[in-house]
Amino acid sequence: MAIEISEKTIKHEFIEKINQLSAQDISMCFQCGTCGGACPMSARMATLPRKIMRMLQLGMEERILELETGWECASCHACTVNCPRGIDLARVMEAVRLLVLRKNINKIEPSRLPAAAVRELPQIALVSGFRKLTS
Ligand code: SF4
Ligand code: SF4
Repeated sequence: MAIEISEKTIKHEFIEKINQLSAQDISMCFQCGTCGGACPMSARMATLPRKIMRMLQLGMEERILELETGWECASCHACTVNCPRGIDLARVMEAVRLLVLRKNINKIEPSRLPAAAVRELPQIALVSGFRKLTS
């Protein structure tokens, strides 16, 4: 299905929020795709980082917040160190996650984790998982 983009559909407030939260200027992205090539998680991403950046530039808030890419990002910073425009894409991904969590949407519910998994998983993995995935 074709997506219609016009001045009316572009959410400028959303773009501003992403820029503020990430301390980056997403308009700097010129769509080279280097980030996706460097990303160790790209094989499992249905929407690659380059496309996310374009969607962010177009202020496509609802579509972006529905996508899994931000959650699949491992915050490894490989994109950040390779971006020819110096964009810290890992921070942009973090900003996308924050905007979902600020709607009180948890990606995992700690109370629903199986007791056996809680016993066996390293505590540090649990804590970092909760930090990233819960509001
Ligand atoms: S590497 Fe940088 S400039 Fe290239 S697509 Fe990714 S974010 Fe944009
Ligand atoms: S920080 Fe996220 S998007 Fe960037 S290379 Fe690592 S996993 Fe991929």
